[in-house]
This record gives sequence, structure tokens and C-alpha cells, in this order.
Amino acid sequence: ANGRWDTILHAGKRDTEPPSILDKFLAKEIPSTGVLGDDSVRPFRDIAPVAPTHVLIIPKVRNGLTQLRHATADHAGVLGHMLEVAAKIAKEEELEGFRVVVNDGAKGGQEVFHLHMHLIGGGKDMEKLG
Ligand code: C5P
Repeated sequence: ANGRWDTILHAGKRDTEPPSILDKFLAKEIPSTGVLGDDSVRPFRDIAPVAPTHVLIIPKVRNGLTQLRHATADHAGVLGHMLEVAAKIAKEEELEGFRVVVNDGAKGGQEVFHLHMHLIGGGKDMEKLG
């Protein structure tokens, strides 16, 4: 049943975790509002935005990265690239300030187990964190 997603998304290094809803976006089985992406990442607007700009940046190939805790040196390239894309989108959206967030684990607020970065900004000043 997962054959198509497996072929499209998990070519190369495999990942034994079940597909997440993000695979349906990637396979365009669920429509989403895209933002500038490229070969390795696909950003789209969050369906439940918490700020005027709320974009999820996701790696097209999950490659075992269901959540940040599984990051290895193999993932360093895509993780760095996600930040670069976040910066480009922030510039495109003319954000004066923004925040990037990765939730990890149910106790960290993670709902979808395919690593993704939230780019959040615009509107009112954000409360200081950290
Ligand atoms: O970090 P977390 O796993 O909680 O993020 C999942 C995000 O995916 C949520 O912000 C949620 O609003 C978004 N989402 C979406 N479209 C869906 C389901 C979830 O944009 N159909």
C-alpha cells in the first residue's frame, strides 16, 4: 500500500517508519500552498497558522529523520539547507523578525513524524524565548 510513497520518497537509503501526512503532501495527494522550494525541500503554508507567515519546511526524502533526535552526520546537509531556505523565505516574505522551531517528540509538541521546521513570523512582536 505504501509502494508509491516508498518509491518516490524513500529511494536510496530506506526508512522503515510508516509514511506521515507529509508524504501525502509530497505526493500531491493532499493539496497544499507551496512556497519556494527546490530539489531537496518542500515548504508549504501551515493549515493552522499561528502568525501571518507560518511555513513548514520539510525534506523531500525523510531518510530516517522522523524527528530531530534521529539526526546523524548524514542529515547535516539537509538540516543546514533547511535553515538556508528558511532565511530565503523570510526575505521573500519581508519578515522583520521570525523564529524557526523544530518540535521533537509528543512531549515536545510534535504531531507529524517526518522532520519539519516551522518558520513563524510577521505581525506582532514575538515574546522572547530562551
Ligand atoms: O511540529 P508539529 O508536528 O506539531 O507540526 C505539524 C504541523 O502540521 C502543525 O503546525 C499543523 O498545523 C500542520 N498541519 C498542516 N496540514 C495538515 C495537518 C497538519 O499544515 N493537514
